[in-house]
Amino acid sequence: MSNRSKKFVFIPFCLIAQAYQAQGIVKYEWKSSIKPIVQLLIDNDINIIQMPCAEALFKDSLIRKPNGISKYNTKEFNEHCEVLADEVSKQVHMICKSNYNVIAILGIEQSPSCCVNYIYTNHGMEKRKGLFMDKLYNKIKDLEIPIIGINRKYINKSMKELEKIIENKS
Ligand code: SF4
Repeated sequence: MSNRSKKFVFIPFCLIAQAYQAQGIVKYEWKSSIKPIVQLLIDNDINIIQMPCAEALFKDSLIRKPNGISKYNTKEFNEHCEVLADEVSKQVHMICKSNYNVIAILGIEQSPSCCVNYIYTNHGMEKRKGLFMDKLYNKIKDLEIPIIGINRKYINKSMKELEKIIENKS
């Protein structure tokens, strides 16, 4: 008899390795993993899949200044995100084809690559997905998987959103 959980959540690389974040961005109480979210996934026996960090891979370094979306929105970075989103989308489809359940995909709000709902720009707040997240969304929207943007500043709100999804899928 198999005791495995068939539930999955895809997470941004930095959710469990904040050292991948741009300089000056890790300023909340968690030094490595964003503990409340990770703990919630572990407590509910959810398989965790770490998506690649588009920005660190593109830069080939963990040292980078925080840049807005206008700096990242180049042909080269978009092509790079397209390749990564394609790989992740294949994995999501493969899991679903196996009759396992991807219950959510998580992003990081305000990231030019991984935000889900909003991002700060030179012109104030813009409601949009990040460059990587937008490409991934377009490749998996047929599966209707909830995508949640984790907001580190308002972590309780993000926790509630995720808890609701976990409850509905149990
Ligand atoms: S690009 Fe995405 S995974 Fe990488 S540090 Fe930014 S939010 Fe995290």
